[in-house]
Amino acid sequence: MKILDGKETSKQIKLEIAEEVKQIIRQGGKRPHLAAILVGNDGASETYVSHKVKSCDQVGFESSLIRFDNSVSEDELIKKIKEVNDNQDIDGLIIQLPIPEHISEEKIIESVAPKKDVDGFHPINIGRMTLGLPAFVSATPQGIIELLDRYNIETSGKHCVVIGRSNIVGKPISILMSQKSKTGNATVTICHSRTKNLRKITKQADILIAAIGKQGFVTADMVKEGAVVIDVGIHRVKSNKTKTGWKLKGDVLFEEVAPKCSYITPVPGGVGPMTIVSLLKNTLLATKQK
Ligand code: NAD
Repeated sequence: MKILDGKETSKQIKLEIAEEVKQIIRQGGKRPHLAAILVGNDGASETYVSHKVKSCDQVGFESSLIRFDNSVSEDELIKKIKEVNDNQDIDGLIIQLPIPEHISEEKIIESVAPKKDVDGFHPINIGRMTLGLPAFVSATPQGIIELLDRYNIETSGKHCVVIGRSNIVGKPISILMSQKSKTGNATVTICHSRTKNLRKITKQADILIAAIGKQGFVTADMVKEGAVVIDVGIHRVKSNKTKTGWKLKGDVLFEEVAPKCSYITPVPGGVGPMTIVSLLKNTLLATKQK
């Protein structure tokens, strides 16, 4: 069994991005600038945003964190998004999800200018990605594809089973894995909460992607010997062994599944860091497209 090390791979990619930024600046170009909007002070969202801001620093990007209270109205938030859309200095904009329930996520996503939508959530980007046209591909699926590619994992003709059909992970990764491309060409089965005989299907997977949002859901009896397993799940669980009082776990019961796999992503240090570098890559692309 080999670990698909997202932490190390992302470090390497950050060095590549930092080098490209230096070159752009040397040639008189503009420093990439990512803006993040954070509503409220949910612990997990704070952590994700601070990792994104720190990663911008590491590669030489500028970043702006725009904060709102939970009580912000939908109109106020959309007004700010439009301001950022019109700000020529900002290349990419992300809104950290989830946002409070009184605000429509759909309206917020659709307010972001597609050319600044470096999270790849806007319907235009999702549509273009689906058609195989140049687009901002959402960061987590793109990070998974890049990790498989960097480890030279054959996807062509393989049976890929995706558990989960969310708009940000399950759906886009299913499309990318089946796309006619070097990193696709797989035969894809999408499973979800209404799927019957789930174990029978997952056991056929050469590549199993778990994006369910339930800790330890994928057990050893669901996995074929020699499969490649990608664990997208992130769960904070209480721990008295860490300084923070919690540790991260995935959707896969790593201890019992790992021995059966040819490759597996750990949590933490697998898909998470790859998601952040994909966001950086999209921001760099947005800058270069100007
Ligand atoms: P979601 O809740 O939007 O979707 C979960 C999906 O799982 C749904 O489509 C549902 O049909 C399916 N599902 C639920 N119960 C099931 C069952 N019993 N059998 C089969 N399918 C079932 O979640 P999401 O936004 O896709 O996120 C999934 C997980 O990935 C979460 O833990 C989230 O925190 C994590 N995540 C991680 C990253 C990262 O960067 N690593 C990014 C996004 C999400």
